[in-house]
This record gives sequence, C-alpha cells and structure tokens, in this order.
Amino acid sequence: MSETVDLSALPSVDRVLKSAAISPLLARYGRSVVTDELRKTLDEIRQSAREQGTVPGEDAVFASLTSRLEYRDRSNLRPLFNLTGTVLHTNLGRALLAEEAVSAAIDAMREAAALEFDLDTGKRGERDSHLRELLRELTGAEDATIVNNNAAAVLIALSTVGGGRQAIVSRGELIEIGGAFRMPDIMEKAGVELVEVGTTNRTHAQDYIKAVRPETALILKVHTSNYRIEGFTAEVSGAKLAAIARQAGIALLNDLGSGTLVDLSRYGLAREPTVREAVAEGADLVTFSGDKLLGGPQAGFIVGRKELIAEINRNPLKRALRIDKIRIAAMVATLKLYRDPDRLASRLPTLRMLSRPEPDIRMQAERLAPQIAKLLAPKGYAVEPCRCSSQIGSGALPVDTIASAGLRITASSGSALERLAACFRSLSRPILGRLQDGALVLDLRCLQDEAQFMRSLSEGFGNALA
Ligand SMILES: *Cc1c(COP(=O)(O)O)cnc(C)c1O
Repeated sequence: MSETVDLSALPSVDRVLKSAAISPLLARYGRSVVTDELRKTLDEIRQSAREQGTVPGEDAVFASLTSRLEYRDRSNLRPLFNLTGTVLHTNLGRALLAEEAVSAAIDAMREAAALEFDLDTGKRGERDSHLRELLRELTGAEDATIVNNNAAAVLIALSTVGGGRQAIVSRGELIEIGGAFRMPDIMEKAGVELVEVGTTNRTHAQDYIKAVRPETALILKVHTSNYRIEGFTAEVSGAKLAAIARQAGIALLNDLGSGTLVDLSRYGLAREPTVREAVAEGADLVTFSGDKLLGGPQAGFIVGRKELIAEINRNPLKRALRIDKIRIAAMVATLKLYRDPDRLASRLPTLRMLSRPEPDIRMQAERLAPQIAKLLAPKGYAVEPCRCSSQIGSGALPVDTIASAGLRITASSGSALERLAACFRSLSRPILGRLQDGALVLDLRCLQDEAQFMRSLSEGFGNALA
C-alpha cells in the first residue's frame, strides 16, 4: 500500500516559496531560514506520507512549517511566569526592574549618552560618577564604585586591600553561594591568604585579635546569606569588628550579599541589616548586590572609605569587571526610587511582590481556581486554592518564609504531574511552579498579569496535554 501513495501531489519547495501565503513567514524569518525549514518539513511529510499512505494538503504543509519556524525562533530566555514562590530566583534572573529603570535602559540602548564624558566641563568623565552621589546619599558612605556583580565586588575589594597579605575570616562565615562562589576560592583568586578563626558555631572578639599579624591586611565579615547557624552560637558584631580593625590598623570589609537600602520591617518584612547601618558601624568597605533585595539590574557595589575606593578604581581588574551603560542607566533610575520610600513598595517590583499581603493573594487564588479547574479537570487534574510559603531568595533571610497563597494541582500519579509540569514549561510563556508533597503548587505572589496567565493556560490545553 505504501508504494502506491502519490507523492507528486505534494507541492515543491519552489512552488511553496512562490505562493502568496508564504510572504508573512518570509517577512518574519527571512528567506534562507524559511527555505531551510521548508525542505525539512517536506522531507518529514514525505516520510510520513509513505508510512501512512495519505498525502496531506497544502494547509497542513503550512501549519507544520509555521510551527517548525516558531519553535526554531523561540528563545529559552523568553518571559515566563515565576510561580515558584522564590521571588528573587537566581536561575530565573532575580529582580524584575521598575518601569522607570526599563525606560532608562531603553533610552541608553538607543541613543548615545555621556557615559564617560562630563557635559559641564566638556572633558572626559567617569563611568561611576552617575551612581556615586546617589550611593553616597543612600548609604552614608564617603565614596562608592560599581562592578559587574557582587562576586566581582568582593574579588576586587579583596585583591586591592589584601592582595599578597592575609585576611581573617570566622569559620562560621566561610560561605558557598552556589555557582562555584566559595569564599576560600575567591580569596585565593584575589591573592589573599585566608586565616580562619573561631569555630563553626562560635567566634569571639579574642579570636580575631589574636590572629592579627604584621601580614594581616583586613578582617572580612560575610553575611551568611543562605543558611543560619542556630543554637549555641556567637558572632562578633560589625561595630565590634570595626573597633578591632581600627585598633590593629587594618581594614574591615563587610560583604552584605543581598544588602538592602531600606529597613524592610517598614514593609512588613523581617529585618535585614541595611547598607547604611553597616557603613555607620565603621566598616571600611561594604559590598552588596544590585539585583537582589535592591531590585535593580545585575551589579555589585562597593561603598566605603574614599582612599580605598580610589585604590580599587586604580586596580586593573576594575576595567575587566566594569558594567555597561545600559545597566548603569537602569541602576540610576532604580536608586532614584529610593529617594521616595513612601512610594517605593508600589514602584519597585521586588518590594511590591515581597510585601503583597497574603489575603490579597488568597482572593486571587480563590478566584482563579475554578477557572483553571475547568481547563484541567477534563485532563484528569484537580485544582484547589491553597496556602503556601514564599521565600525572598538569593540569600536574603534564608530561613524566613512569607505567608502566601496559590493553586494546588494534583493528579492520579506522579508521572501525570511531571507531564503537567513539562507542559507548563513548554508554553510560549512558560509557567514554573514547584513540585511539593505530591502536588504542583503555583504560588501566586509573583503573578502580575492575570489575563496573560489565563491566555497561556488556555493555549496549553488545546494540544500539548491531549
Ligand atoms: C549573593 C552573594 C554574593 C554574590 O553576589 P552576586 O551578585 O551573585 O555576584 C556574595 N556574597 C554574599 C554574602 C552573597 O549573598
């Protein structure tokens, strides 16, 4: 039977390329890609026509070509719904930028800007100048500099202040952040010899004092971002460490990690040490991230004593670790929002999502659950509103969770649930939840565009799950 199928009924590559219906595809993807995919489509159709004994019509050829082109064109970096419950998810790109930051970035992308040019004097300017004043104002530090990310900030600060000498670190603070950021390794790369003091759970002032040698350049204090040591513990406060460092004539570097610029308790969240507090305690340098709690683009800040910042800026690593005009523009716009703390929680997406009240999210879950159940029930899935817990993520308040609400989706088997999660991931705008206690939980804290979310879901359930 298969030999009898008449493949000549299939259109040729040339004929399809000449047809009127192809022009939108040519306009969108270009001739060479369309031709390439069309050949593959026709090969595939010929193959299945031989197996099945029927030749599909031209419509089917177009449908198959269009979906091949869409698939080839689509990016793994496309926007998605982060319903994992982790607001600052490192694997999902951390902070979402405020509209003010987005438009500043777009302007910077499109037009020339005086990035390293002083418009007042007409002379060469400095890349950091756009952020320096804002950072001084918001942190109380004498001076500030900005690099690619906080890992870079720690690296260049250590290399500048402690290169070829020693740094004292508590054994309770030798962190690994993930992605191969381990404090001992960074110190080695910075050319700094690590001197560990104290124990995992307890480190005392005397431990630091006794470790100071002529070769000691600094004390490094590290915020234990992604874990907490509980029980019989002791650490030395930043203020005390500053006094010890001053007495010994060495520097204190405080790596805050997430580092917030505002007191989060004002927005109903647990307190994290602010950058201003770390500076006021007497740290010589404070490092923190731009895209964690601060809510801006990826960047690393170093704020602190003027002469140390100047030295850092002279380090050849600075050029290697510098950031581009797009992020500088977005960061300036982000930091400006901090000048008005009253409106910050409504303008800065990170803070808006973190401070979203649980009853608000619960109402949304109760409203959406029946609509989504209608889509999923025919496929054998049950959907109900549920309570859940969000996390800040990116190493801020690692053991604190925020009461939240969402949708709990269950299935007859674990594999059916995995299939659903895979289908959610394959949507043109993927939906990411978390598998937990035999259910797929969608934490709605970060759901901003409800209409788009419902459209994505409806899109998925015509075909992919059938
Ligand atoms: C997150 C973090 C870093 C690394 O910051 P990135 O912005 O990811 O480069 C360094 N130190 C601490 C304490 C952190 O929490």
